[in-house]
Parts: sequence; structure tokens; C-alpha cells
Amino acid sequence: MLPFKLIYHDNYDLHLGAHVFPSQKYRLIQETLLREKRVEAEDFLAPEPAADEDILRVHTSEWVRKLKTGALTLTEMMRLEIPHSKEMVEAVWLATGGTVLAGRRALEDGFGVNIGGGFHHAHPDHGEGFCAVHDVAVAIRRLVADGAIEKAMVVDTDVHHGNGTAAIFGDDTSVFTLSIHQENNYPEPKPPSTVDLHLPDGVGDAEYLRILSRPLRKGLDEFQPDIVFYVGGADPYCEDMLGGLALTLEGLAERDRLVFAEVRARGIPVAVTLAGGYARNVMDTVRIHVNTILAARDVARKSCLHAAH
Ligand SMILES: [Zn+2]
Repeated sequence: MLPFKLIYHDNYDLHLGAHVFPSQKYRLIQETLLREKRVEAEDFLAPEPAADEDILRVHTSEWVRKLKTGALTLTEMMRLEIPHSKEMVEAVWLATGGTVLAGRRALEDGFGVNIGGGFHHAHPDHGEGFCAVHDVAVAIRRLVADGAIEKAMVVDTDVHHGNGTAAIFGDDTSVFTLSIHQENNYPEPKPPSTVDLHLPDGVGDAEYLRILSRPLRKGLDEFQPDIVFYVGGADPYCEDMLGGLALTLEGLAERDRLVFAEVRARGIPVAVTLAGGYARNVMDTVRIHVNTILAARDVARKSCLHAAH
């Protein structure tokens, strides 16, 4: 058994067919974890769809109505870059419920992992780059409304800048946003995060880890969040079709261990979401996300040992 819960639902799949966004990856991650006996069936929790009331803590009623009725304009559909369908909207509501649940479980168990979510390009009044609803922002606002947390930090390691996160929390001093991404890539413009680490093309493992570690530690020490939401993109991978960085599978796993170890060393809970991944071979994307979950397991076990001594 894992020392924390994995949040997953078969209906996370957006059923996009032959789209660059491999939304079947969620199912493949779950299957791989079980097939390789990394986890047991009892490690999983199924989420409920997010409540509209919670989605509306971040998004405009106009955008929610458009998503629910399919009344997107052509421009809105082109910006979203995935076709609108009832299944897609249900999957997004479900994944958002999953991130809320991951946040709650993280507060109890130290970690909570949603095998989905990380839709960091979604804005209050529109969707962008495969992201219709900003699940992490919804979860943060819900936990704040519950009085469960006061301050949150978002650590976003997707290869693309977290523009939705930055736009939503730009004026909100209770949320610290850190994005490490390829500068010369989507999206443009990039509204400022609290800390933006703009990387040149082709950055590899060692340089990436060096650039990330100090601002991460400084942010954690100075801001002292009540929870960290990790947006763990698989797309800084060297074989990614939409990314231009050069991290290896091992470097990506090291990135996850670094973030989890630094956060948990300070006793701060971590809620994990997955975000993007467009490797030429979808099983590489699956492997990177599986490794994120195993990194959480390893760090969780280590912090249990420390606590016991
Ligand atoms: Zn991405």
C-alpha cells in the first residue's frame, strides 16, 4: 500500500482520438502502476465531479455556461485546441474534482496525487492549450473557502509557462506561483508568475536542476505555504514533440524528487497533478508520470522514517 492516495477515474479520458494530446495516458498510467505491481487497487480513490459552485470561484459564469452548452465561438474553440464534447466537459469537471480531493488528501496524508489535471493554461473567461478549467486554482480557492488553508504555492514544471495560473493569481498575495519553462515556446504572452524561470532552448538535466533548486527553496522558506500544488509536466523531456528542452527520464525523476523532498522536509503537504506530455512514444509520457508517482512514494517513505526517529 502507498502511504497516500491516488485519485483516478476512467472517465478522465477526453476521448480525443488521434490528437496530439494523448488523453488515454491517464488510463495507461493507472494500468501500468497496477500491472507492474507498484500499487494496489486500494491505493486509488475515485473523485466526484467538481461542484459548479467551486468552478465559479475561478471562472466566469459566461465561460461555464458556454462549456456546459457547447456555445463556444470559433475563436474560443481554436484557442482551446481540443474539440468540445459532453464527454470532454464531464472529464474536465471530474479531473477538477480530483484535484480538489488530492488537495484535501494531501492535508491529511502529506501527499495527494491526482492522476490527471494540471490544466494550467485555463483562464477565468476562456480555455487555452487543451485546458478548459483551471483545476488547481479551483482546488486552492475551495480549500481557502473551507478554512483548510490560507496560503498556497503552485510549483509548475511543465515545459510551457503557467499563464492561466499567473493570470488568475496575479493580484492574489495568498498564492505564490513558480513556473520553470522554456522561454521560446507557447504561450505568448506570459503574464508574470511570482517567480518565472525562463529557460533557453535545449537545457538538460544538470542545468535544469541547478536553476530550479535555489528559487524553490527560497520561495518555500520565505512564503511558508500551507500546501504546495505541483504541476508536474512530462513535456520537458528531450523526446517531446511540443517541448524544446532536453531532460532525460532520470533527470525528470530527479526533478520530482527534488521538489517533493524540499517541500516535505518543511512539513508542507503536496498535492500532485500531471499536466502535459507529448513524447513521440506515448509510453515515455506514461513512464515519466509513473515516475512522478514513484518519486512521491519514495519521499513519503523517507519522511515517515525521519518522523519515526
Ligand atoms: Zn505543457
